[in-house]
Amino acid sequence: MLRQQGARLAATGDRRESQVRALLTEQALAAELELDLQDARHAAALTPAQAHALDSMLAELGRDISSVPVFELGLAQLLERVGGRRVCREAEHVYHLISAPPKTRGICDIDGSELYQRDDDTEPVIRARYQKQWVEAARPVVDHYDAAGLVVRIDAGGTREQVSAEIDALLARLGDGS
Ligand SMILES: [Zn+2]
Repeated sequence: MLRQQGARLAATGDRRESQVRALLTEQALAAELELDLQDARHAAALTPAQAHALDSMLAELGRDISSVPVFELGLAQLLERVGGRRVCREAEHVYHLISAPPKTRGICDIDGSELYQRDDDTEPVIRARYQKQWVEAARPVVDHYDAAGLVVRIDAGGTREQVSAEIDALLARLGDGS
């Protein structure tokens, strides 16, 4: 139904039509796929069945997916990154034992409260989450788009700048239509 409203608004010639249409379409897609857009930030939100449904809906709209960037990070790197994370008790300020340590060990630079490791960031939880979200949930979806030749792998193990540069390069290539 949302998609019909989107189409009708688009037909009125309102100059904001494309934005409104894009928004309605995104919400409609999310609703039809039973996706929570907030939740999509946590990745692995699509099941293979939802990926197939998304393909058909886009085909109906005369659109297709031009690229599926996949950010790759091995378990060892994930353990180092997430396992080294510490937050403060006062305000959850975030630190990292290796890449962003506090000035005084175990103490928040900003408010002086104690730093601790969240249960979510411990090794057993990270391993379980990796298995469930990546190996079991995301990989079949990546395989689906891999079969269509759409997957572009981005090494997420680099620095923030390196990863940004890879994303920029991908967007530039897509912008060229090549
Ligand atoms: Zn703090």
